[in-house]
Amino acid sequence: MTTALTVEQQAELRRAVEAERHRVAHQVAALGRDVDEIVAASAMVATDDEHDPEGSTIAYERAKAAALLGLAERDLAALDEQLARIDEGRAATCARCGGEIALERLLALPVTTLCVACAVLG
Ligand SMILES: [Zn+2]
Repeated sequence: MTTALTVEQQAELRRAVEAERHRVAHQVAALGRDVDEIVAASAMVATDDEHDPEGSTIAYERAKAAALLGLAERDLAALDEQLARIDEGRAATCARCGGEIALERLLALPVTTLCVACAVLG
């Protein structure tokens, strides 16, 4: 089974992945600033988590921002991986079954490395 993209399709996919990577990189930078600001704010307030309701709110906000940052960083790594897959000509090959991933699916979901069937299986 051939799963190679044409040169044009490869270029189109690369543009989509790079655009998404650009967006996620901005998100990582913004979330990193959020985490820094929350940490700085909580240091200034010198909170008592147990008795000060503000304290637990800040801890919660910090945990939430850190979790979002972690997800965005994971996406960024996945997009870098996808760019490598494009370079190696295997972006349209399912990482699990070796079948073809439709270009439409790749364009709609630039981080995916699985065909629809494998993605549904989880
Ligand atoms: Zn598959």
